[in-house]
Amino acid sequence: MFESLTEQPPDKILMLMQAYKEDPREQKIDLGVGVYKDAEGRTPIMRAVKAAEKQLWEVEETKAYTGLAGDPAFGEALSRLVLGDAVPAGHVAAAATPGGTGACRQGFDMIRMANPDAKVYVSDPTWPNHLSILKHMGIPVVPYRYFDDETRGVDFDGMMVDIGRAGAGDVVLLHGCCHNPTGANLNLTQWQAVVDLLLKTGAVPMIDIAYQGFGDGLEADAEGVRLVASSVPECLIAASCSKNFGIYRERTGLLMAVASDPSRQKLHQQTLNYLNRQNFSFPPDHGARLVTMVLNDDALRADWQAEVEAMRTGMLKLREQLAQELRRLSGSDRFGFIAQHRGMFSRLGATPEQVETMREQHGIYMVGDSRLNIAGLNAKSVPVLAQAIIDAGV
Ligand code: PMP
Repeated sequence: MFESLTEQPPDKILMLMQAYKEDPREQKIDLGVGVYKDAEGRTPIMRAVKAAEKQLWEVEETKAYTGLAGDPAFGEALSRLVLGDAVPAGHVAAAATPGGTGACRQGFDMIRMANPDAKVYVSDPTWPNHLSILKHMGIPVVPYRYFDDETRGVDFDGMMVDIGRAGAGDVVLLHGCCHNPTGANLNLTQWQAVVDLLLKTGAVPMIDIAYQGFGDGLEADAEGVRLVASSVPECLIAASCSKNFGIYRERTGLLMAVASDPSRQKLHQQTLNYLNRQNFSFPPDHGARLVTMVLNDDALRADWQAEVEAMRTGMLKLREQLAQELRRLSGSDRFGFIAQHRGMFSRLGATPEQVETMREQHGIYMVGDSRLNIAGLNAKSVPVLAQAIIDAGV
């Protein structure tokens, strides 16, 4: 039977990781996979997470199943982190999921269940996994203009025209902050314009927020999500703890369904529970428990916030250094966008050939669409990358 299966395209980013591993050059630089790295190239366990883990080992008395939506305390703590006071708790249904990917997947499932004809509008470009999951699920995808190749900022006029075509029963997928793969983001005025448009068309927003705290700060990065959640009749929010808690392999995420009418909360919660049951039953608990402990303990939370802030400002500094070095080498301001972008990624705007040249000649690994992971840099590698960018003729 299984001989009828056809080969699936390999994940390009995972392939790049492998190629990097196999490259014998010592001075190679990995700007590929979306994992935070410190100046020494390590992805450390965050201090507060480690402390919570130690505590947990002492106090945890059972590994019996949690609830289908995970521990409700996790749902409450993480939805507060994302939503702040923008939406009262009674309007939010939430279910823990295996990572932000799981939250996206469950969200798409809820959309398909509610409306099998729904089209999902996605930014061009978007995180490739959005596209492959939607394709796998047979959900039609409509790309909307997002990245302006000239300015390397958001093509906001194009975006508004394109998402204006989404109607009631369709979904517009937005990145909450730190857009992956471009690094170009909406400002709050633009978020408001998007909200006004969605209110007019009746299309439902779904927001994927995987990098809260990596852009302009934990609160600032959530402003767009909060505005949407407090303005529209219903929306979905997929949150990931992989990056901002550094717990990638623990698979910790949350899908939230927010409704302006609190009487809908119960049905939403039942639906989320049902969908977890069908797809994997109980969600992973370990990472979720650590996140809950960190968020609900003043000292751990303060330490965690300080560490996220240090990661964020470190990445900003690298952005500024790179932009400055490129200004010096190119004698122009055309790379200024790197300092404007936010989050872990920037799309450089290099051609696939130029990306290849940088890999072959300089051992610099970035994704084929010229997405680079800023956290893969350090003070020493910034000038090397800048020179490679200029040499490749970007
Ligand atoms: N959404 C986006 C846009 C992402 O970049 C990521 C991480 N690569 C995720 C969701 C989910 O990540 P995870 O499943 O590891 O939590």
